[in-house]
Amino acid sequence: DERNRTPHVAILPTPGMGHLIPLAELAKRLVDQHDVSITFVVPTDGSPSKAQKSVLESLPSSVDSIFLPPVSFDDVPKDTKAETLISLTVVRSLPSLREVFRSLIERTKLVALVVDLFGTDAFDVAREFNVSPYIFFPSTAMALSLFLYLPELDQKVSCEYRELEEPVRIPGCVPIHGKEMLDPVQDRKNDAYKWVLHHTKRYRLAEGVLVNSFMDLEGGALRALQEEDSGKPPVYPVGPLVNMGSDGGSEGSECLKWLDNQPHGSVLYVSFGSGGTLSYDQITELALGLEMSEQRFLWVVRSPNDKVANATYFSVQSQKDPFNFLPKGFLDRTRGRGLVLPSWAPQAQVLSHGSTGAFLTHCGWNSTLESVVNGVPLIAWPLYAEQKMNAVMLTEDLKLALRPKVSENGLILREEIADVVRGLMEGEEGKRVRNRMKDLKDSAAQVLSKDGSSTKALSEVALRWKNRALT
Ligand code: UDP
Repeated sequence: DERNRTPHVAILPTPGMGHLIPLAELAKRLVDQHDVSITFVVPTDGSPSKAQKSVLESLPSSVDSIFLPPVSFDDVPKDTKAETLISLTVVRSLPSLREVFRSLIERTKLVALVVDLFGTDAFDVAREFNVSPYIFFPSTAMALSLFLYLPELDQKVSCEYRELEEPVRIPGCVPIHGKEMLDPVQDRKNDAYKWVLHHTKRYRLAEGVLVNSFMDLEGGALRALQEEDSGKPPVYPVGPLVNMGSDGGSEGSECLKWLDNQPHGSVLYVSFGSGGTLSYDQITELALGLEMSEQRFLWVVRSPNDKVANATYFSVQSQKDPFNFLPKGFLDRTRGRGLVLPSWAPQAQVLSHGSTGAFLTHCGWNSTLESVVNGVPLIAWPLYAEQKMNAVMLTEDLKLALRPKVSENGLILREEIADVVRGLMEGEEGKRVRNRMKDLKDSAAQVLSKDGSSTKALSEVALRWKNRALT
């Protein structure tokens, strides 16, 4: 019957809103345009967050979702890095994933499993059930190029990458200093590096890798990825897949109402993604810098963390009331001109709002792409994961962002912040950055149009799945 010929795809998002959100967009496109049915199978280490649930609930009814029983980290040391925790969440969920596969195989024509960057251990279950393993890579083609190259680099280099004098030449990319490469490769003795290496070796087991990028944005890296090379899986540029902000609920509507009352293009949106936190001293500098810039701003603020820059990665919410950590009198002095929100903003709606004129971002890839589709220029303030690599590309290669300098004491100081903010909102360099972003916005719309390259690449993948469903 009909149901038995509809290809069914299981999607396994690893922890992190930055993984779930673009996978949700991928799911929407697949069910809308390709008559594929989907189940999200979500591994966790605790009860699902409000943010996670709201993304999954916003999906069309033909997309099902199952939360796997939470795994326990009671035995894991406190300073364990995010990449290790993410990988362990998947490994420890494999028995319950197997149960879900058993039931899906009975009810559906299960043809493929899609995991994101650190989910390759789930491939073992896919293989057991003769289901095709795929990767959706929710970051840059540059990071993907590095991932596919890492096993070789690991063999060639014996010191820490940050100690290399020569920049690292990732195939197809701007040369980059070892110290700007993603966090987990900075300490090769740490488990986080071993996990990343483990996954990158397993990338070759995938039957295809979908990457959230497109030619006009990352031509060099994508061309290198698409070169024939034995053992490298085919790479499909399907981006930019982002939440366009059209299906947002009423949550956070206070800030959208505030935006309604601001002049066109006048507001700087300030946010460090789902996990980003600043130190107490850095929050002070940022607040005073925004104040000095005399520009309008909408700032998503979290309570400080002086040890790590991704303190809310697994929880999203601040631990304490962030407003208690702002400089004395700041809220009063900036009232009307600035709005400060605790922990979370409806970012897709904020970036598509006409009053938003620029985005000070941690350079998370979803945030970057959301800015691209809305033509909003950037201030690059990278914190963790692969964000420094993204910042180098955005600032030096693509010139879509201005980047404030870090002072000798490791802080970005208020004067520098005010200068860069004014420079982007009012200066000549800002105008050039803004215009380049507008052009890229048009290319993004083009690649996603009916005959666009990203639409075609996704069709190709869907066709392979449909053919599998027929056999
Ligand atoms: N996001 C949001 N509100 C916030 C912070 C983040 O809606 O206050 C969304 C944002 O729109 C993006 C995702 O969460 O889709 C964050 O992904 P990104 O890759 O930018 O950064 P990460 O959080 O993974 O570091």
